Amino acid sequence: MLLNVSQLLMEASGSVREYELDERIGLLDNSREDLVSGEVRLLKTTRSIWVSALFTSDVVNQCDRCLAPFSQSVHMDIEEEYFPALDPATGGRSQPENADDDTLYIDENQMLDLTPMVQEYASLDLPMKPLCKSDCAGLCPNCGVNLNDSVCQCDTALRDPRWGALLDMVGNSSQDG
Ligand SMILES: [Zn+2]
Ligand SMILES: [Zn+2]
Repeated sequence: MLLNVSQLLMEASGSVREYELDERIGLLDNSREDLVSGEVRLLKTTRSIWVSALFTSDVVNQCDRCLAPFSQSVHMDIEEEYFPALDPATGGRSQPENADDDTLYIDENQMLDLTPMVQEYASLDLPMKPLCKSDCAGLCPNCGVNLNDSVCQCDTALRDPRWGALLDMVGNSSQDG
């Protein structure tokens, strides 16, 4: 997701570029091609280009409980500041005040690469333990059957002792009510 900002860098502060983008990039790893769609707004400031972007994508994820692949929507609401690596006036290296390891740069060819940031925001939006549905029943640890699709013959109490205790409580309370 490369944007050429050579013109914008020479314009006055307050100048704006807006793009609609549809690009395939690997959101979870680089071997994949997820379709990322959205809008980008670039604002020239006195020292940088401020990027505001809103992207969405649907990625195929794997359920942490039942291991089934499922489609999950991802939202990336990006607000980041990018600094030119070269000073447009002198052509020499430039570094903003307070620069640190997280400072984002526009490369020497005035190309602003949004891909690493899009990937980072995607990983922040995706849950650590993705679930195909919040009440996914998972796999039976005894026989491995997908309990969303079928019921196995295993003793339910053997699946997980904690579930057994919980089910007893649910059973008792429904009798009370
Ligand atoms: Zn699942
Ligand atoms: Zn089973």
